[in-house]
Amino acid sequence: MDGFEFLVVGGGIAGLSAAIRLAGRGRVLVVTKDALAESNTAYAQGGIAVAMGGDEDVSLHLSDTVAAGDGLVNRQAAKMLVEQGPKRVDELLAWGTGFDRGAAGELLRTREGAHSLSRILHANGDATGREIARSLLKHARGIPVITLMEDTTTVELTVEEGRVVGALLLGADGKLFSVRVRAVLLASGGAGQVYSDTTNPAVATGDGIAMAYRAGAELEDMEFYQFHPTAFAKEGAPRFLMSEALRGEGAWLVNAAGERFMSRYHPQLELAPRDVVARAITREGLAGPVYLDMRHVEIDLAARFPGISAFLAKYGLKLNRDLIPVRPAAHYLMGGIKTDLHGRTSVPGLFAAGEAACTGVHGANRLASNSLLEGLVFGASAAETMAEEQGAGTQDKGVGKTAPPVPVDPAALEVWIAKLRKLMWEDAGLLRDGDGLRRAQGRLDGMIRGCPRGVTRREVEARNLLTVASVMVESALGREESRGAHYRSDFTGHWPVAKHSVMAKGRLRFQ
Ligand SMILES: Cc1cc2nc3c(=O)[nH]c(=O)nc-3n(C[C@H](O)[C@H](O)[C@H](O)COP(=O)(O)OP(=O)(O)OC[C@H]3O[C@@H](n4cnc5c(N)ncnc54)[C@H](O)[C@@H]3O)c2cc1C
Repeated sequence: MDGFEFLVVGGGIAGLSAAIRLAGRGRVLVVTKDALAESNTAYAQGGIAVAMGGDEDVSLHLSDTVAAGDGLVNRQAAKMLVEQGPKRVDELLAWGTGFDRGAAGELLRTREGAHSLSRILHANGDATGREIARSLLKHARGIPVITLMEDTTTVELTVEEGRVVGALLLGADGKLFSVRVRAVLLASGGAGQVYSDTTNPAVATGDGIAMAYRAGAELEDMEFYQFHPTAFAKEGAPRFLMSEALRGEGAWLVNAAGERFMSRYHPQLELAPRDVVARAITREGLAGPVYLDMRHVEIDLAARFPGISAFLAKYGLKLNRDLIPVRPAAHYLMGGIKTDLHGRTSVPGLFAAGEAACTGVHGANRLASNSLLEGLVFGASAAETMAEEQGAGTQDKGVGKTAPPVPVDPAALEVWIAKLRKLMWEDAGLLRDGDGLRRAQGRLDGMIRGCPRGVTRREVEARNLLTVASVMVESALGREESRGAHYRSDFTGHWPVAKHSVMAKGRLRFQ
């Protein structure tokens, strides 16, 4: 294999947007640890929030984003997001993304929680992410200097004299190889798999965040994890997302007594911020199941939400006819690898974008449908800065080393991972307190001894889950207040001044 100038870890919206933009500046290797089509991006349903309606819309998008973030949004980052968003979405359109259109060819927009306008573009009803991923992949495949390598796991970053110069990778053939490059972009997505109940696919194990941390990079706001209020809640069924767009189209939330209850919790009712709705459902759920009710909605819901309708049909349910059981599940990590507006981390040569990164654009709570836009805008901006990095890529080294044999029993490894995910759900989930978080910390510390050391994909993921979970718990313990998605029942008030948490090299600080 020839040398590359740039390594992009991840083939979701952030990674592919960056790779396309880097292509004019050198040879780009994009690796994904599963199939190329498998990413959080591909599962995004509701849509992409973008202010295509002129200046007023842009400023309202900014104020909605800032309000949702509960005092912690980096205003400059949010401004860049909403101002550059329309241009980036125009590019997507030019690359063939088929957003849904009305009879006259106009782009259709829907509304979601805490948005003051209908500004969310969607595709194939509720399959926005799959359509965006399809068009980005098609575009990237047509660019000769981009090499897309699937089933290739990044095991560790290579750091020399404080600078990231490449990475160690595990190929589809089970062999380890290393790549040296001018710059590495971590666009490796979120960490929903740290919790037992999540809407995220299996790839979301926080690998990039854990690798960056081990390489000495600062992580920011890792205690802010968003729990989606409405994941499907039937025993034995996956926690499939019941998109917020259902509530945007008029769905009510009703409790076991058939009572619509959101008026007791927030004036925006079902379209209140996600953390408010998630906590309300958890409280109402103590008395029995909570349901989405769309029986009064007059549009053809099977046509508007074909993916969700097909999923529900497997359980004999229809949106227009039945109550749909829902409860919260882990969904989105607001924190991540601390970056500036150009994707730079605190370690030279290392960049991050998308859900793996923390630009501060979401603050303590993400506004619905802002994350696809974040990947698009900040993936592109990271690429522009990476292109300016000095140094040259060189030939790969160490090609052909075979991975050592699996040192642990795969079944035992799955038990170890399941234990970690369950304890995180129980003690570091939606409602937290000091006792639970300290218990989680003790249990995580106790798991270090059994932590696998090998380099199969699953062992790498297990190690990364432990690293990410430990940082999340430590940051949540340190934040003795409730803010945004971080709710402590023992500290329900706000600190007088909003501060970010920063964790690096085992030390937590608030600034
Ligand atoms: C069910 C669901 C619905 C959602 N709906 C919406 C929505 O409607 N609107 C919205 O804005 N957001 C939505 N989101 C959130 C949004 O999809 C994600 O935040 C966003 O897609 C993240 O993009 P990304 O490029 O950062 O990472 P991802 O799309 O998650 O891509 C991560 C990539 O990194 C690769 N990777 C990870 N670790 C490694 C490794 N060690 N080595 C090699 N490769 C690795 C993966 O294989 C993958 O290719 C939703 C999320 C889910 C789960």
